[in-house]
Amino acid sequence: MSQSREIAVSKSGIPIYAIVLLAAIFAFGLFVVGYDQGHIFSIVMGESAFDEMFIHELTHDMRHAAGFPCH
Ligand SMILES: [Zn+2]
Repeated sequence: MSQSREIAVSKSGIPIYAIVLLAAIFAFGLFVVGYDQGHIFSIVMGESAFDEMFIHELTHDMRHAAGFPCH
């Protein structure tokens, strides 16, 4: 009488590319909320983006609430 045993090992890890992608999104969001002074819009608007600072004004309250230095 032969007996076979089956051991099922299920591995469900988080794929590394998901961690890298989420880290990149987090870093971009952190830059937008905490550090942007017109850098992102300067890609399309040029120098005037640093005077207008649209993203800075948009995220100003969030920036203060999160404790980032601003002014
Ligand atoms: Zn401020």
